[in-house]
Amino acid sequence: RKKWKRVVGVLKELEESCETTVGRLRQVVDAMAVEMHAGLASEGGSKLKMLLTFVDNLPSGSEKGIFYALDLGGTNFRVLRVELGGQRSDLDPDVEQQPIPEQLMTGRSEDLFDFIASSLHRFVEKGNDSVQSSITKELGFTFSFPVKQTSVSSGVLIKWTKAFAIKDMVGKEVAGALQQALARKGLNMRVAVLVNDTVGTLALGHYHDADTVAAVIIGTGTNACYWERTDAIIKCQGLLTTSGRMVVNMEWGNFWSSHLPRTSYDIDLDAESPNPNDQGFEKMISGMYLGDIVRRVILRMSEESDIFGPLSSRLYVSFALRTPAMAAMHKDDSPELTEVARILQDVLDIPDVPLKARKLVVKICDVVTRRAARLAAAGIVGILKKIGRDGSGGITGGRSKSDIKMRRTAVAVEGSLYTQYTMFREYLHEALHEILGEDIVRHVVINVTEDGSGTGAALLAASHSSSG
Ligand code: ADP
Repeated sequence: RKKWKRVVGVLKELEESCETTVGRLRQVVDAMAVEMHAGLASEGGSKLKMLLTFVDNLPSGSEKGIFYALDLGGTNFRVLRVELGGQRSDLDPDVEQQPIPEQLMTGRSEDLFDFIASSLHRFVEKGNDSVQSSITKELGFTFSFPVKQTSVSSGVLIKWTKAFAIKDMVGKEVAGALQQALARKGLNMRVAVLVNDTVGTLALGHYHDADTVAAVIIGTGTNACYWERTDAIIKCQGLLTTSGRMVVNMEWGNFWSSHLPRTSYDIDLDAESPNPNDQGFEKMISGMYLGDIVRRVILRMSEESDIFGPLSSRLYVSFALRTPAMAAMHKDDSPELTEVARILQDVLDIPDVPLKARKLVVKICDVVTRRAARLAAAGIVGILKKIGRDGSGGITGGRSKSDIKMRRTAVAVEGSLYTQYTMFREYLHEALHEILGEDIVRHVVINVTEDGSGTGAALLAASHSSSG
């Protein structure tokens, strides 16, 4: 009995340290808006990099023609073609996906780009489009690694992440390397835009809904971008664009604030990660980490009691419990929680867990996901606040709520956490309601986009094409 009491104590402590009252969330909202300002004020002024994208117009639906895109960011890479008729329509892109051979991820940049250009060559031919046509085809390139952009169609690789490590590419111009490979293959194509995946999501969101002002990705990792006024980008004085605006890639996964509710599990997870002190917001929110936070809590409970039986060595394995398995336990509503029992046994090697303890596991999943979803919601409201769409009249405030005519405001969202994890999505919506209030939240629309990273890049190639 005493041991059960200890486990309940662990849960209570978890709940308290994950507390996200509306008051707390509003502090996170304010911190996000303040950090956005700081990141725009000077290079290195905030943990938020607030990267310039030079994307100064967003697809409207009037684009016409055939456009291509390449999407490189994970182990798979994709080639796409969209045909645009000059009127907003359901896009039905041709897509081909293939894995990048492992040796190319760590070899020479020329080999990687030759491989990409060959795939594109085959894809264009297969689509009965002439490869050497005298008309230059416009190509959007989604490259989901940190890039310092120098224009909408050029930028220098800051560093590789994920499984890529091609030394001769760091510090080099990314679109130029691709452009040269296209020339070697005799492809008459121009890299019209070089973009990050969130920017593609914003482009696709805006194509379908012209009120879209921001895009958020919540999948393996998390990031956001939004539509900013150029005069607010103080670190780049004199920046002129026709629209007077530019998309800013926040790299919000690296956001940090003392108002974020942090637990000992977060501290351990961060310390044992390959990038300690980095991506703090992402480590509380995204799919890569949520399952591992839950594993750490179960481990603690197992160490402090025997309600999970003898200590399983699997509990010591980082990332042994993945977020999809966590979501499956969370949504188990069978009276005996049979799915929870199965996953504890199959994934964590913990057999014969009593029902009472299974219920506890569901509760842990709930606490961890609820915090994640509510923090993501606070991040979104932070962006709305920064651009004066949270109903408060902007960060300087002053006007009363009744003075404000709140405009319809749409946010494009993509990623499996939002689309596949029902509880995550519901908690996110609930928090938006709580933070913004009923009067404001009814003007805020969340639109789910699909494959924005690829399709959006093709759309941006269209809206930034040399033919206008
Ligand atoms: P990306 O890897 O490009 O971000 P996704 O948006 O599909 O792709 O996100 C994948 C991540 O989402 C996985 O790493 C996993 O953590 C999480 N995930 C996938 N399916 C589910 C699910 N059913 N429930 C909860 N999380 C999921």
